[in-house]
Amino acid sequence: MTTDTTRPPARGTALDDLPLREDLRGEHPYGAPQLHVPVVLNVNENPYPVAPEVVADIAGAVAAAASGLNRYPDREFLDLRADLAAFLRVESGAELTPEQVWAANGSNEVMLHVLQAFGGPGRTALSFAPTYSMYPEYARDTLTRWVTGRRADDFTLDVEHTRAQIAEHRPSVVLLASPNNPTGTALPLATIEAVLDAVDALPQRAVVVVDEAYGEFRRTGVPSALELLPRHGNLAVSRTMSKAFSLAGARVGYLAAAPALVDALRIVRLPYHLSAVTQAVARAALRHSTTLLSTVDELRRRRDETVEWLRGNGYRVADSDANFALFGTFADRHAVWQGLLERGVLIRETGPDGWLRVSIGTEQEMAAFRQALTEVDGEKK
Ligand SMILES: *Cc1c(COP(=O)(O)O)cnc(C)c1O
Repeated sequence: MTTDTTRPPARGTALDDLPLREDLRGEHPYGAPQLHVPVVLNVNENPYPVAPEVVADIAGAVAAAASGLNRYPDREFLDLRADLAAFLRVESGAELTPEQVWAANGSNEVMLHVLQAFGGPGRTALSFAPTYSMYPEYARDTLTRWVTGRRADDFTLDVEHTRAQIAEHRPSVVLLASPNNPTGTALPLATIEAVLDAVDALPQRAVVVVDEAYGEFRRTGVPSALELLPRHGNLAVSRTMSKAFSLAGARVGYLAAAPALVDALRIVRLPYHLSAVTQAVARAALRHSTTLLSTVDELRRRRDETVEWLRGNGYRVADSDANFALFGTFADRHAVWQGLLERGVLIRETGPDGWLRVSIGTEQEMAAFRQALTEVDGEKK
């Protein structure tokens, strides 16, 4: 063999030698550390595994779907959308048709669809910090300008500030997490209605997404934004099976909105984005929603106990309607996070400087957390 002298010299294999978009240079893939430690309380999962009778039904549904995997899945998945509508009717009293429900691989993909359809170059997405760290990524990936207003010191939203931000930035998408991550703060319906009124006053209305990923954990008497849907065609309420449902591994998120808004998402979704296996898993799980959600009350109680314990030990803790608590404040939060990790307890270093977030786990896991925190930060109290 002779050397091929017509071939150009080999180019480098580093990312710098590839035509990566300028705005992505230096960016890192998002994600909390996935570490193998005894007590994992960092990504707000439900700590309880799926119950055996539900596992059996899911396995049967997957087996039934498997023989049909030579075919593409149902692209419109109206059966699953009907099941999700039925679930929301029971959970929140919402009256929805299947055409008012959309689903994707996690609510992250659902919200990416929203930004793909309603964001884009020359457009703005607005949210209020501190909030979910994935929102700016949807904006970046869809070339949408990203703007944040701020939450008050107690992490609630000041209505006047919210109105002013909307009038100033004229967003086409407003993202409101309620209960908010990482603070746990739920928004009163009056605040969401004020946002809807403010965007209705814009020349070009915005779509308002209320991200209720933790909605099932809200305290008694805290309403869902689903109540506002009948009166607002530009409102989308996003939910997920990743948290309360104990199904983070299945990757199923969904939203409820007016049929026209859902139709816009159907334009930008990839064909067959929701696999036949995912659809089968979700539908089997929804047949057991009562069983899957039976741990929610226990987790809410433990959340309230955890907040109380932290406050009793001298910490500041944000009011929480979710399955986690944001607490602080620490001069060196990283040292506390590290100290807990060395004791086998993984929590999340997130939120405003000085604060840490702990997900609500099992009784034993929370005991391990309290013990580790007392050891690491013993000078308190
Ligand atoms: C966890 C979480 C989600 C859910 O993400 P999935 O993609 O459905 O797993 C959505 N929004 C917020 C604020 C979250 O914390």
